Amino acid sequence: MNLLYKSTRSNDVEVTASQAILKGLADDGGLFVPESLPALEADMDTLAGMSYQETAYEVMRQFLTDFTEEELKDCIAKAYDEKFDTKEIAPLVKKDEAYYLELFHGKTIAFKDMALSILPHLLTTSSKKNQVKNEIVILTATSGDTGKAALAGFADVPGTKIIVFYPKNGVSPIQEKQMVTQKGANTFVVGIHGNFDDAQTGVKKMFGDKELAAQMDKAGYQFSSANSINIGRLVPQVVYYVYAYAKMYANGEVAKGEKINVVVPTGNFGNILAAYYAKNMGVPIDKLICASNDNKVLYDFFRTGTYDRNREFILTTSPSMDILISSNLERLIYKIAGADAAKDVTLMQNLAAEGKYEITDEMKAQLKDFYGNYANEKETAEEIAEVYKKTGYIMDTHTAVASRVYRKYVAETGDQTKTVIASTASPYKFTRSVMDALDAEKYKGMGDFELVDALSKLSGVKVPQAIEEIRTAPVLHKNVVETEDMPKIVKQFLNI
Ligand SMILES: *Cc1c(COP(=O)(O)O)cnc(C)c1O
Repeated sequence: MNLLYKSTRSNDVEVTASQAILKGLADDGGLFVPESLPALEADMDTLAGMSYQETAYEVMRQFLTDFTEEELKDCIAKAYDEKFDTKEIAPLVKKDEAYYLELFHGKTIAFKDMALSILPHLLTTSSKKNQVKNEIVILTATSGDTGKAALAGFADVPGTKIIVFYPKNGVSPIQEKQMVTQKGANTFVVGIHGNFDDAQTGVKKMFGDKELAAQMDKAGYQFSSANSINIGRLVPQVVYYVYAYAKMYANGEVAKGEKINVVVPTGNFGNILAAYYAKNMGVPIDKLICASNDNKVLYDFFRTGTYDRNREFILTTSPSMDILISSNLERLIYKIAGADAAKDVTLMQNLAAEGKYEITDEMKAQLKDFYGNYANEKETAEEIAEVYKKTGYIMDTHTAVASRVYRKYVAETGDQTKTVIASTASPYKFTRSVMDALDAEKYKGMGDFELVDALSKLSGVKVPQAIEEIRTAPVLHKNVVETEDMPKIVKQFLNI
């Protein structure tokens, strides 16, 4: 069956998967969504015996129907290889009655690698399939992890260039170092004076700028997006929820058809949306627990039905979730609006004009699968320390937000359903916050890499290659600009 993609903002756009991947965002500013969500064809007994790569093929072939078997398998083989430090790719670790799905074993030690190691291959394949002559310029805004994962994925991939904007004072020292030391002649990293939302808004503006597009085309370039709105990011993320359930079933942790809950530390709503898609495909998932930090716009949304970004933007120790506009939420809004593009447009116009919108009771009634809560800074730090004390397991700040929200959920509901917590980053990526949480006094005054060594000693986990690499790497990217100068510096880099 050929699955086509529609825009959340109009009824007459219909594109193939490869076209949707190439475009990233629809021309009308909408997000591409599959016309219908496919039901998983393989049964759980079959999936239980599959490797990560096999599962990836099984799931992705149902979404990317215009890719040939050979093309898709080739993309998967190139993505999920020795770049990951474990054959399992996404291991499930049982600690303190919860299952932590470790999504950080890729090249940049955050869950973004799960999708961004395959996106460049999906994109270049899509480019060939659609006879695109232009060179693809990836334009990305990052709250820290996407940037590095995209840079690592695209560096030196022929026929592509990548430009990353990040909030100069809104990412962790390790995250910044990872980005500004990126090699590859086709890479370009720029800090902005502003927060993540400013960076994302600036990037979205450039995507919508017709004049810029014409100038680019003349010079043989076209933009594409590696942000989590690209279905080429979303689809690979569905895979690990299928894989996690299949592994639990294979290991006898759940009976056939037994439901599990999933907790996801959420920012742009991409990861949890993938879990929702997995559920809709037939994976036995009951509750989707959406965990926020102090930027708890989603918690408020699930509670009240009003999405309101008019609030202070708070910098937290989980910077990859410091987001007030969760772009992927639009896909959920569209779905609960009954795939009604006009309704979606109205709400998104309200969001653009007033910074908020309210969904109807009818729409709200369809959010029963979701539960939202948040963990503040103190609770997040406590969670890291408590789980370490109890089990010796050291988690990063984002995972800790999810872990604490899980505890709140259980305390509130008494629900004993087995639960998978998406573990989205290695603690090594947020070493200072993690070590502070464990013993602020003791580690005060230590340098970033001293802390890395201390963490290794404490956790018994070897320092990942991603961290070793940046210890001594030279800074190659030094540009910092005002948000309004983003288009200017893009043109400079492309010589147009
Ligand atoms: C990106 C990121 C998140 C948020 O994921 P979304 O898909 O944007 O909701 C959470 N944790 C970490 C470590 C991340 O890098």
